[in-house]
Amino acid sequence: MDRSWDVIPGDMPGTEWRIPVLRFRGRGNGPPAHLQAALHADELPGVVTIDALCARLRRAEAAGDIRGDITVVPWANPIGLQQQLHGGWQGRYDLDTRVNFNRDFPLLDRPDPALLPGEDAVLLATTRLKNRLLALALQSDIVLDLHCDEVSLLYLYIPTSLWPLMSDLADAMDPGAVLTWDGDGGGAFDEACVVSWLRGGVELAGKAVSTVELRGQADIDAELAERDADGLFRFLAGRGVIAGDPPRRRWSGPVAALDHIEMIRAPVGGAVCFMRAPGDRVEAGDLLATILVRPGEEGGSVPVRAPQAGLVMSRRDHGRTKPGEDMMKLVCGSPSATARSGPLEA
Ligand SMILES: [Zn+2]
Repeated sequence: MDRSWDVIPGDMPGTEWRIPVLRFRGRGNGPPAHLQAALHADELPGVVTIDALCARLRRAEAAGDIRGDITVVPWANPIGLQQQLHGGWQGRYDLDTRVNFNRDFPLLDRPDPALLPGEDAVLLATTRLKNRLLALALQSDIVLDLHCDEVSLLYLYIPTSLWPLMSDLADAMDPGAVLTWDGDGGGAFDEACVVSWLRGGVELAGKAVSTVELRGQADIDAELAERDADGLFRFLAGRGVIAGDPPRRRWSGPVAALDHIEMIRAPVGGAVCFMRAPGDRVEAGDLLATILVRPGEEGGSVPVRAPQAGLVMSRRDHGRTKPGEDMMKLVCGSPSATARSGPLEA
């Protein structure tokens, strides 16, 4: 394994950002793979999973079992990592521009890093960071971007054009659900990869790109990291990136297009008591949560009910809400009456 640092100039004199890049050289004709974690810099389950995966990859390297080049970026967003505001982590949006760190990646006409702006272009560090991450990823056939939700099952975002071509990732990771998407994703990292392939007329067989949601932000756990690293290793082995055993089982969980996700939004502001947890199955009309608006008064709570039957996939990690705020995600069998176009979340 080789570790180098990609240096992004800071916006002001005296500052720069350093991205660690780990590389495993392939000794065969296996496809190249790119994995990264913590693009949303306060989502760290992927960081510990990558640590567990790299221990396996180093052993495979020693045994001569790495067949395709593997690039690993365990801390993809040093700018976001440094954004601490009054004791709180602010890893999702750039505090200066308010832009989500996983939006506004450039959508190229083919997977060619030469199409990205050069070093001398006048760009903010956040844009340079995105261009650099995309340049690394575009050199690979297999791209996995490790994120997490707040309190959540493990789930996968997979482009519609790559499903069921990528069912082996579900076999390997055993997600609670697979979310298929197409169309405008706001320039998310996975969208930038797949758009370059689609516009470039690249054969999609053998390609893979996914935003992997590794449960909730608090699920930073050695046992879970080992399990997920085992899944990722088997997926890479099944694709021929590494010599080894492919996924063991066939996954058969729920697959839903984004418009089949019920984003449960708060009708009022107040204190939230969640009555259901990720993994629960609910029927239409079941009580999901209550929002306490007038404490101490009879009828002071507002019930929030399931609009249709489904699986609770995730919920917020705190018990307070404003009117209209997302509280829960349900994976359902029918389109949501309140589905919006574009990505599920801002
Ligand atoms: Zn994220």
